[in-house]
This record gives sequence, structure tokens and C-alpha cells, in this order.
Amino acid sequence: MYDVLIVGSGVSGVAAALRFADRGLIPCLVDVGLEPPCEDIIQENLYSYRKNHDSFALMIGENFEGLVDLGQKSPSVPAKLASPWIRYVTSHAQEYSPTQSSGFDVIQSFCQGGLASAWGAGLYRYLDRDLENFPIETQDLAPYYDRLTKEIGISGANDDLTSYFGRDEFLQKPLKPSLNASRIIRRYAKKREKLNAKGVYIGRPRLGVLSDGKDGRKPCGYSNLEFWQPGLSHIYSPVLTMKRLIKEQKLIYREGLLVKSWSRKDSALIVRAQTVGKGEMVDMACKKLVLAAGAVGSARLVLQTKKDTRTELDLLDNPALQFPFVFPSRIGARLETDAFGLTQLNLVYDSQKFEKILQGSLLEVTSPSRSEFFHHFPWAAHDNLRLIRHMLPALIVLQLFLPADASNAAKLSLKEDGSLHVQAVKDRIDPEIIKDILKMFRRLGAFSSVSRVVHVPKGQSIHYAGTLPMRADPRESFTCDRNGELYGEPNVFVVDGSVFPALSAKNYSLALMANAMRTADFIVEKMRD
Ligand SMILES: Cc1cc2nc3c(=O)[nH]c(=O)nc-3n(C[C@H](O)[C@H](O)[C@H](O)COP(=O)(O)OP(=O)(O)OC[C@H]3O[C@@H](n4cnc5c(N)ncnc54)[C@H](O)[C@@H]3O)c2cc1C
Repeated sequence: MYDVLIVGSGVSGVAAALRFADRGLIPCLVDVGLEPPCEDIIQENLYSYRKNHDSFALMIGENFEGLVDLGQKSPSVPAKLASPWIRYVTSHAQEYSPTQSSGFDVIQSFCQGGLASAWGAGLYRYLDRDLENFPIETQDLAPYYDRLTKEIGISGANDDLTSYFGRDEFLQKPLKPSLNASRIIRRYAKKREKLNAKGVYIGRPRLGVLSDGKDGRKPCGYSNLEFWQPGLSHIYSPVLTMKRLIKEQKLIYREGLLVKSWSRKDSALIVRAQTVGKGEMVDMACKKLVLAAGAVGSARLVLQTKKDTRTELDLLDNPALQFPFVFPSRIGARLETDAFGLTQLNLVYDSQKFEKILQGSLLEVTSPSRSEFFHHFPWAAHDNLRLIRHMLPALIVLQLFLPADASNAAKLSLKEDGSLHVQAVKDRIDPEIIKDILKMFRRLGAFSSVSRVVHVPKGQSIHYAGTLPMRADPRESFTCDRNGELYGEPNVFVVDGSVFPALSAKNYSLALMANAMRTADFIVEKMRD
């Protein structure tokens, strides 16, 4: 009989495990636990590696898997997940969680560390304005934020974005910005007052990416490998914390198990799982069950346990827009090959006009493959390829997130045949937002046009939430109380995005982790009563 059994080794499950360990309780963590295909980490820069080695396996893949979406107008997954060595993160998802969807790309992971094994590691503190419609406040999450900054190693700065991101005294220094990002920093500094008066703020991102070495992990080497190489030690993954806890005998890890449901026997919860490969059924008894299988995975477990094929649950994800911006004077320049290949800067647009605050990440394009940009150019293949080569050094991409709530939620349900069904409604994004952003970047010397702006396919922001929302006074099945305890299911707690009743425009994973730690604390207190 385990005191606590956690399902899922993603950021939510591991953050809960960390808090249990801090409080002296040893939980058991269960996962399918797929692992990366390659153990060796490339030790050079992407561009020198390509010069010195055959990079076919790295970039195209032995089974040509890197070419799957080539030429498609709308790729089926974000580029990083299509990369041959990173594909394991979402592999077998249809086998372990068959899903049909309409208008929503459901992206699920069954690997050790979950989706965070491929993430951009943008880690932001949810504050009161992000927690509207939640039964909790900043002060409920605040005790865990500093602990997480120290565990993860977050780089960034307390700058113009501090009033949106919260002050963090334990940040590592920010990463070196790319040449294009440095241009934006310089122009923003000159036009700060005018831009701020319009609600525009730009600053350094908060990233779970090391600028200084930490606990044997290397700092970012500006190698551009972020899109290609799993397990880079400068990018935090929950696997790092999980392995440390296992080594320190503060966590029991059972892999190769696909949890199916739970039942009750006397005061115990009996968790039923299937072994991966052999398909044998295994029962595990526990006093408290913590669901951290992701907002889709945990919803599936609850629907399966209740054998409910009628209920439709909300599934939230941030609507998003992608703006490619060009600096004309950089067209044809040398590509910056020693850059950090992910988020360079953040933008917050807090305008009275739109009621809601918007947040965006400015991304360098030096890491993804050139084919990623192929279908954005209108000419013949040969000319497109030549043009891309000259345009890439001049390009930076803004990924702008918008808030989500029940009004634009997709509907998720379980079918009789065991598959999930997800039905989306189309997002309506105010075209004024696009015009404003284009205008704002013209002031910063970067240009784009309405026709080049991409509406990110729904589901591809991968900030899933809202399936089992927390309420101040829950009165119905498929909701949780403010501590994450599932209504009508004593001792079953949910700690992933399922419990978030709404999403602000801020990437939510750090808030997920803090909330999971809060629930773990509640469980420890309850067990000691
Ligand atoms: C390319 C990319 C970039 C991203 N960038 C950012 C970013 O910059 N900032 C940010 O905040 N977020 C980002 N995200 C989103 C973020 O990674 C996820 O939202 C977050 O990792 C979710 O964590 P989780 O623990 O709740 O769930 P998951 O990561 O989905 O983990 C669930 C775990 O549960 C296991 N599991 C599921 N079902 C079962 C079952 N039945 N039995 C046993 N085990 C099970 C899975 O194997 C998995 O390990 C990004 C995601 C991607 C893919």
C-alpha cells in the first residue's frame, strides 16, 4: 500500500513528488515512461556538426520522419515535435490514447518527463490578474515559486515585465540575446515611453534554461541544437528532478505502466494499470491518488473510471498567432550560428482596447530546419530555397498567445470504443490585434503583413486545461475543490492543467508546478491530521 501514488512524470507529477519529498513523504510515481532514442549528446554547434558529420539521422531521420509535414500548409505538430530524435516525446500516443478530433490537434506524450521533454521552458508566475475565476490567489502559489526557481534554474531579469511576471530574486542572469533580438532591445529602449503609453512592454523571458552552470548541468552553449537534440542539460526537464529524487531514495518510480482506472476496496484506492508490451493487468493499492497525466490524460482516466460516455468536458488551449518579422537591413547578412534557438524576448500588450492582456514570445529561427519556412514563400521551390537562405538572418518570429476560457473551449468526451473525441469551436480573433501588433513592430524596425500572419492550428499551443476545473464550492462530478480533490471521489486529487478553469495569455507550466506543490502540501497536512 503506497501512501501516495502519482500518475504522470511530467512537470505536474514531478512538482508534486518534489513537494512530498521536501515534506518527508515518499510517493510512488507511475508512468508509461518512453525514453529518448539516443543517449549521446552532440557536443558541437549545429552548424559545425552539419559540416563535420552526416546529419541525415539527426535532421531527416532513418525513416524520413522529419519530412512528414514538408510542404503542408498547416503542420500536424509544432516543428520541434517533428524532429527525428524528439519525436519519441509524442510517439505511440494514438496507441495508448486513441483520439479523434475535429478542429483541434490533440498532442499527448507518454514519455518520461512528458511534454516538457520538448518544451521551450518559458516559465512564468501566475499572479492575481492571471487567476481571475480561480478559487485561489497569488498568495496561495507564492510560497512555491522561489523553491521552483532554485530547483529548475530560471534565467531572466527583473525588468519592464516585472509587474506582469512578478519579482524573482533568484533568477540567473538572462541569456545572451541574438543580433535581431538586440536590435529590438535597442529600439525599444529609445521608444519605451511612447510604447508603454500604448500598453506595450518588452523584456527578457523567464526561461528554465541555464546561463550559469548548476548541479553538474552545463550553461547554454548557444549551439542551436534546441530543435534537434533531446536531453540538453541547459534546458530544465522534470526528468532531472525525478532522477535526483530516485537516487536520494525519496521517490519510487514504476515505469512501463499505462494506468486505466481506479476502484475502492475498504479505505484503499486500487489503481489498475496495463503493462506496456505484455498487456498484463497490474493492481496497486494507495491511500491517496494524484492524477498528473496531463489535462487530456487525467480527463480520460476519470471518464474511464466512471465508464461515462455521455459527458462532454471543456478542453482549453490558448489561441495563438504567429507573426514573422523581417529586419530589411539584415536581408542577405550572415546567419548568426551561435544563438539560443528559442525565446529571445517577451512582449506584453496590455491595452484598454482589448480588455485582456496578451503575451508573446519572440523566437529566433536559427535552430529549426529551413523547410519549416518553405511553404510561407510564394515562388517556385528552387527560388523559395534561395530566398529562405537570404531571409533567415533577417527574420524573427512572434508567437502571440491569447487567453482562453469556457467560452472558446473545445469539448472532450469518451466514446464507447474507448477513443476520445475532441470537437473544437473556431476562434474569433479580433483583426485589430493583428493590425496593432504590425504597427507596433514597424516602430521597432521590423516588418510583416497581415497576409503573412499564421493562425496557429487549435491545440498547438499545448497549454491544455479546464477538463476538471477547480471551483470554490464544487457541486458536480468532473469538478475539483480548491485543493484539487475530485468531487464525489475522496482522496483522488488532480494536479495538472485539468484544474485550471481559465488560461491567461501567459505560458502556464510554472503555475501548474506551483499548484501541484500546493496540493501536495494539502495532502501531507491531511494525512498528518
Ligand atoms: C514544443 C513545446 C513547447 C512548449 N513550450 C512551453 C513553454 O515554453 N512554456 C510552458 O509553460 N509550456 C510549454 N509547453 C507546454 C508544456 O510542456 C506542457 O503544458 C506541460 O509539460 C504539461 O505538463 P503535465 O505534467 O501537466 O502533462 P504532460 O507533460 O502531458 O505529462 C503527462 C505524463 O503522464 C503520463 N501519462 C499520461 N497518461 C498516463 C496513463 N494513463 N498512465 C501512465 N502514465 C500516463 C505521460 O507519459 C506523461 O509523462 C510546450 C510544449 C511543447 C510540446
